[in-house]
Amino acid sequence: MLRNQLYCCLITLCFLPAVLGGAGNRWTYEGELGPEHWKVDYKHCGEKQQSPIDIVTSDVRLNTSIPDFDLSSYDKVDGVDQELENVGGHTVEVKYSGGEPLIITGGGLSGEYKADQFHFHWGSSDAYGSEHQMNGKPFTMEMHIVHHSTKYANLTDALDKPNGLAVLGFFFKVGEANPAFETLLSKFNQIEHAEEKIPLDTPIKLSSLLPKNMSVFWRYHGSLTTPPCYETVIWTLFYEPITVSEEQMTKYRALKRNKVGEAEKDLVNDFRPLQALNRRVVETNNELGLNSTGSKNDVQIYFSLLVLCLHLVLPALVNRS
Ligand SMILES: [Zn+2]
Repeated sequence: MLRNQLYCCLITLCFLPAVLGGAGNRWTYEGELGPEHWKVDYKHCGEKQQSPIDIVTSDVRLNTSIPDFDLSSYDKVDGVDQELENVGGHTVEVKYSGGEPLIITGGGLSGEYKADQFHFHWGSSDAYGSEHQMNGKPFTMEMHIVHHSTKYANLTDALDKPNGLAVLGFFFKVGEANPAFETLLSKFNQIEHAEEKIPLDTPIKLSSLLPKNMSVFWRYHGSLTTPPCYETVIWTLFYEPITVSEEQMTKYRALKRNKVGEAEKDLVNDFRPLQALNRRVVETNNELGLNSTGSKNDVQIYFSLLVLCLHLVLPALVNRS
């Protein structure tokens, strides 16, 4: 009897870590299980082709032979099944849970890639939040659309295969409210806590969330930005950022890391620190990609100032004549 109890005890002790943590949840964005520690449990996180990286535009190589993407499937809504989930308090994600597949081609990818989900990385303030940076400057938020190569049966199968994944990344800046995000944001209060998810009765048209200009981008080879950090991702980062308002950002920051009933903790700063580029080269398909999107913003600011000046000066000139 005693021996049986002892066995029971031993078995429980052996499996306790698996029950408590599970390989899937033994990491966080801060503290003892934060990014510096990831490589202890997930060896790939310590390798040499990791993501995210800083895009240093003076080191970017122009490669105009990279063709445009065909992203026409992002217009699909009929028959598309989507679920919205607060994934483990790590991010908010829209999953393509079945139904009509979204397939993309082109952009220098070999073959077809199928969209599995899109999710976001953001900060506790507008000053940071993106994973990738531009000449040492972060953006307010970054969205990742995750695809797997249709050479493989599904995302899980493709995850650890060379070029198994294609992730399309978009930077965010704060400005005017973006009406295309309202449907998504209006559901956030139903998935406030970790592990909560709901089906989206009216699917979100992915193309409606994206910037107008999708023809300029950066390309490099890297990894998943969360454990297990497999180096199997063809990364594409688009030049034109998406604009959302400060108020819209506060809805992301109101999400929680904790499950219902646990101590409340805001889901913010869910971004991995920059990783070394090592021997990799970032390419762009367009000369614009040799400049930072920040410098375009500067041009816009100067242009706005010029318009303002004209508004002030012109009436005076007209009045004089
Ligand atoms: Zn991501």
